Amino acid sequence: MKAAIMREFGGPEVLHYEDVPDPQPRQDQVMIRVKACAMNHLDLWVRKGLPGVKLPHILGSDIAGEIVEVGQYVTDLRPGQRVLLAPMHFCNRCAQCLSGRQNMCREFTVLGNGVDGGNCELMAIARVNVIPIPDSLGFNEAASVPLVFLTAFHMLTGRASVRPGQTVLVLGANSGVGIAAIQIAKLLQATVIATAGDPQKMEKARELGADYCINHYQQKIGDEVRRITSTAGVDIVIEHVGEATWNQSMKSLKPGGTLVTCGATTGSQIGMDLRFLFSRQLSLLGSYMGTMGELHEVLKHVFSGRLKPVVDRTFPLHDVTAAHRYLESSRMFGKVVLNL
Ligand SMILES: [Zn+2]
Repeated sequence: MKAAIMREFGGPEVLHYEDVPDPQPRQDQVMIRVKACAMNHLDLWVRKGLPGVKLPHILGSDIAGEIVEVGQYVTDLRPGQRVLLAPMHFCNRCAQCLSGRQNMCREFTVLGNGVDGGNCELMAIARVNVIPIPDSLGFNEAASVPLVFLTAFHMLTGRASVRPGQTVLVLGANSGVGIAAIQIAKLLQATVIATAGDPQKMEKARELGADYCINHYQQKIGDEVRRITSTAGVDIVIEHVGEATWNQSMKSLKPGGTLVTCGATTGSQIGMDLRFLFSRQLSLLGSYMGTMGELHEVLKHVFSGRLKPVVDRTFPLHDVTAAHRYLESSRMFGKVVLNL
């Protein structure tokens, strides 16, 4: 099969589109022909080098395609079905997995991070990862869903326990997590303030349902949040930007508010005045992916059309280096998808 394979860490030039051996599926696995694989910032981090990544490596977390073959122990799926893949690897036998907390499993990792991903034509994968999709959902749209919608859903529900009527600040409306978080928070009847970097992105954030929008390059997020909320602040901040916005995110919280973070795109070292944390009784929560139960729950809303994936543009897999350069430019609004 063809694959985009990397044998060393570095810039986009370390990715090579070439022939590699086909995977050999086990009898309890399903073989997928990959049609679309959406990119995430994780692809860039892994390409540059993360601990635990073995070389050679194949990137790609968000995969949609068609079943070509099912092992003899898989009785409820058939070749030809259109599917997406749960973007994670877990043991499916430890106490955490069996309690439905797959993202706390000791073997837990994201497809394309600790294990090979979907920047290739064929994938052999466990039955539990394979989720049929409705005909109404295209492969590019389906591939744009799993990682970011699961991440945002877990942040808002599993971690921050959002309630109707609360106000949520979503950083980076043009990012995958931002696009998902705006829609999920609105679906759960919260008021949403989103931030974006230019007027076009702000307008798109409003189209997704954001009630208010802040230009995070021209306005101070904390000051604008105070103005919008009549000095009250927000109940929940959805963070993934890191260093560049952390202080403003903290300032935006009302007393007793919750900041939940799933990333550090602009850097991971933040400073914090502990007196601000305890005197305002703030909660700081980490969040990583989500559970299989949450994935099935959020997908119901996607399949029914209440939550909409946003595709920015597609690249053929053989242009994977151009796709990486485009993602690094941060010009997109929505997902960049590789096609096979
Ligand atoms: Zn486990």
